[in-house]
This record gives sequence, structure tokens and C-alpha cells, in this order.
Amino acid sequence: MHHTQTDELSEKNRHPSEGHTLSPFPFSDTNKRYHTYSYALKQQYGKKLAKIPLDAGFTCPNRDGTKGWGGCRFCSSQGSGDTILHSGEDLRLQFEAGLERARKKWPDASAIAYFQSYSNTYAPLPDLRRILEPVFSWEDVAEVSIATRPDCLDAEKILWLSEMNRVKPVWIEMGLQSGRDATMAAMNRGHNTSILVACMKQLQGTGIRTCLHIINGLPGESHEDMMETARLVARLKPDAVKIHMLHVISDSALGQDYRQSPFPLLSMEEYVQIVCDQLEILPPEMVVERITGDGVADNLLAPEWTVKKRVTMNAVDRELACRDSWQGKRYKPEQ
Ligand code: SF4
Repeated sequence: MHHTQTDELSEKNRHPSEGHTLSPFPFSDTNKRYHTYSYALKQQYGKKLAKIPLDAGFTCPNRDGTKGWGGCRFCSSQGSGDTILHSGEDLRLQFEAGLERARKKWPDASAIAYFQSYSNTYAPLPDLRRILEPVFSWEDVAEVSIATRPDCLDAEKILWLSEMNRVKPVWIEMGLQSGRDATMAAMNRGHNTSILVACMKQLQGTGIRTCLHIINGLPGESHEDMMETARLVARLKPDAVKIHMLHVISDSALGQDYRQSPFPLLSMEEYVQIVCDQLEILPPEMVVERITGDGVADNLLAPEWTVKKRVTMNAVDRELACRDSWQGKRYKPEQ
């Protein structure tokens, strides 16, 4: 259909929630004003890549006493007992089931094998090689993404990962959560920010891609604290970031605290303001994999609004459009 200039202007003025207005943001072909993961993957692969979660049975040093007991206060206690390392056939079955589910929605999707639960490099290198290396040869796997803690990576493991990165792209995902050490100590994180900063330096130049996770709304944090966390992300320059709202999970230590004496949590409106402020100071090319977590109603204590993921995402689009702003609008390399 032929579009007149008036059509285009009226489309530009249209509210982002009402249609697909092209935003002024360079890394977007929709109304998004931030660098979405799906856009980045489509640019690179020309199609959808589905992230298939795999549980290899790793545990976490912040649960078994190596670094701490009980885990981070916001972490669900599920699976904190003894776990068995899975590999071979078992992982393959998990993968095939996950890919089949994904292909119902996106028939031509390839996959990112995503080792998501707990700390997926928390084992001696020979075990990591036995469990993870076969995955690189699976035909439908385009990339391998490994979630872990910075204290579960060392020079030897990083060298091995950089070799695997030549076979297929490797991502390391780590939780920064907050740049404020007092918050991390209160959340029983078991490591401070400097360990993560040092790990990011070690990963630099290896070709391994990095994704940092941050959590907004942690108890006792001010707007300025959350902005400082975003500034640290901007300085560390991971390839991607995941922004989450704190979920108070019923079987977490924080859930117990909350039941005993509820503490203030961010409203959706406050969260949206903070996310937009953070997006404005992140580098425009940094991929934003998430701007809110997946709403899981089952064991969520609060806040209830987080189950409506789409509503939050639309509110961010709307707020950025109202501000006539976008990711990186206020980015300064030396902030
Ligand atoms: S959030 Fe991660 S690091 Fe913290 S206890 Fe849970 S699995 Fe371990």
C-alpha cells in the first residue's frame, strides 16, 4: 500500500501501544526504543533463536558452604539439596523437548542451549568438558549460554571456554544484581562487586560474550543506588544486560522476612521510571535481553504486578515515547 507523507506523520504521532511506530532508535525495526534481543538475533541469523533451558544438575557454592550457606536471600530454595550432574542422553532429551516446544511457536527456530539453573561452571574442568562439550556438536545449537558466578570461573576455565567459543559462540551470564556491596552483603550474595569486575576484565578480549543481570528494588536501595548499578554496567560494557524487578519468592529467605514484616516494594510505575532512566544511560549498542522477569505466579509473594510482564513492557515503551527518549540518549563513556 502506498503511504502518503501525512500517513507517515500520523503514524509517527501514534501512541506506541497502538501500533508499530518506527522509533528513532537505530537498533530497532519496531516501536522499541531499546536494543532488543530478538532484533539483535534477527540481524545476525535472519531468524528466531530460541533459548532452551537445560539443567545439568550443577549446584551453587553459595548454598553448599564453599562460599556460603543458604544462598542469596532472594533465591528460591528449590533444588538446594544434593544434585546429580546430568549429561549425555539426559541433556539431549531436555534439549529436544525444549526445542520441540519452541518450534510450535517458531517453526524454523534454531537454538541457544542455555545452562540456566545455579552455577554452571561450578565443577572441575574435566567434568565441565564432559558435560558441556557434546552440546557444541548438536546440529540445532547455534550458541551456548552458561549462567554462573564470577567465583566459579578461573583462568583455566576461561581459556577452555574461549576455545569452545571458536566452535560456537559462547555466552557467560552473571548476576551483578547490585553494584552496592552493602546490598550484596545483606542479600548474602557471598561475593562482592570487585570479584565480578575482575572476572569481566579476564573475559575481555577472549571473544566470549557476556551478559550481566541486575535487580531493581532490592531492600534498602535508593533510585540513586539503582542508577549507580546501571552506570557500572555501562562502564563494564557486557554485550547484553537483563534488567529484573525483585521477585519476593515464597520459599526464599527474603520471602520469610517479608511474611514476618513486609518491606516496601516498587510499584510498577516506579519500576518503569527506573528502567527508562537506566536505559537512557546504557550504551545504545548493548543488547537488552530483558526489561522485566518472567512473571511466575506460583510461588510469588510480591509484588503481584510482576506477573503481567507484557503490561510492564508496554509501559516502558510508552514512557520512552512520552519522554521522546531511547536507550543511550544520555550515555557518556566516562560516567
Ligand atoms: S541466586 Fe545464584 S548465586 Fe545466589 S544462591 Fe541462587 S543459584 Fe546461588
